[in-house]
Parts: sequence; structure tokens; C-alpha cells
Amino acid sequence: MSFDIIKGLATTFKNIGKKPTTVSYPEEERELPARFRGRHVLHRYENELERCVGCFLCAGACPADAIYIEAEENTEEHRVSPGERYAKVFDVNLLRCIFCGYCEAACPTGAITLEHEYKLAAFYPEDLVFHKEQLLEPVGQATVGSSAVWFEPPPSEAAQPMPQSRHVFDGSQASAAAVGLGNLPTDEPVLVENEEQDEDRRKFQHHEGREDV
Ligand code: SF4
Ligand code: SF4
Repeated sequence: MSFDIIKGLATTFKNIGKKPTTVSYPEEERELPARFRGRHVLHRYENELERCVGCFLCAGACPADAIYIEAEENTEEHRVSPGERYAKVFDVNLLRCIFCGYCEAACPTGAITLEHEYKLAAFYPEDLVFHKEQLLEPVGQATVGSSAVWFEPPPSEAAQPMPQSRHVFDGSQASAAAVGLGNLPTDEPVLVENEEQDEDRRKFQHHEGREDV
């Protein structure tokens, strides 16, 4: 018996009686780490409105170009989100996705999070493009995602109530007030009404040789 066989048997005997590191999937499943990033979920507010306001920030942040969005304007008759727009189409291509979580970090309303769903096998590639209907929480469900457990909450002075004038928002706090129904100065027409300033501006334009302005 060579020395290698003895060494191998020693390892075997050393591990006899130890708890196995494998699990009998699918009957048994591992407990996932809190920060595990699986398939995306789109969230709702408790008043059933969708959190997503179709701002495209997640798509812009995505390094894999895995998110496709088509936004549509909300109307009083058909209000889907508290913002000016909502995502009419929201697709995530999980064949491109690298589960980095940048989309989650970029979202100003907490609309998209990566959850613990990892059973993502499919026979056809098109089945791994998840559409809004598959990603969105059903009506009656309004969760904020598992990241709330480990995400450091923003300092209280950074949290802003979402301003709105149509009484459709539930009063939750958002980190970017500009996303919602903002009665913010930026929503007002930016006009120079001070005649003195207007006068100065015209002089400047003439000075630059723009006589036609
Ligand atoms: S997890 Fe990363 S790669 Fe996947 S959709 Fe989000 S930003 Fe894109
Ligand atoms: S960043 Fe958030 S709110 Fe904006 S489109 Fe993506 S999921 Fe919707």
C-alpha cells in the first residue's frame, strides 16, 4: 500500500462523522446569505400604486444593458404610479444580467430589488427575459425587499417626503423628491421676469454679435 493511499484513507477517516457540506437539493435548500442577489422584483406601495416611475435610472446604471423600459404618462383616469410616468414595459434580460445590484442602488424609489429567487433555468432563451407582469408584486403585496435588512438607512435629514398635490401618494418617504409629483421650483416655468436682467441679457447677446436674437 503506497503512502498516498494511506494519506487518502486518513482524510476519509478524519471526515467520518462530520456533518456533510452538501445538501440534497431540491428536497433540501441552503439558507441564503442576507445580501444574496437573485431575480429582480418590482415593488408596490401599500396603496397599490407601483413604485416604479419609469425614470430609466436603473437601465442607465446597468453595465450589462439588461433592462429595457418603455415609460408612459400617468393620467388622472389611469394612474399607475405616484410619479408623472410609469413603466408600461419593464423587461429584465437575465441572460445578460450579472446580478451586480447597480439597478437596485440607482433606483430613487426603491422600486426594484434583487431577491432570493435563484431557480432561473429555462429551455428557451426568451423565457429568461422577464417581463413586468412577472417581476411586479401582485396587488395586495407591498414589500420593500430583503435589502432593507442590511441597507444602512439614510440619515433622517436626507429623507424627504414626496411632495404631491393630487392626494394619491401614501406619504412614504423617498430619497429623491424630484421623481414624484413635485411641486418643486424646477417644475415651474423658468422665466426671467426682472426687466433689468432682461435688459442686461439683450445687451450681452448684441455684444456677442447676435443681432437677430
Ligand atoms: S443586477 Fe446589474 S446587470 Fe443585472 S439588471 Fe441590475 S444593474 Fe443590470
Ligand atoms: S430606477 Fe427605479 S423608478 Fe426608475 S425606472 Fe428603474 S425601477 Fe423604475
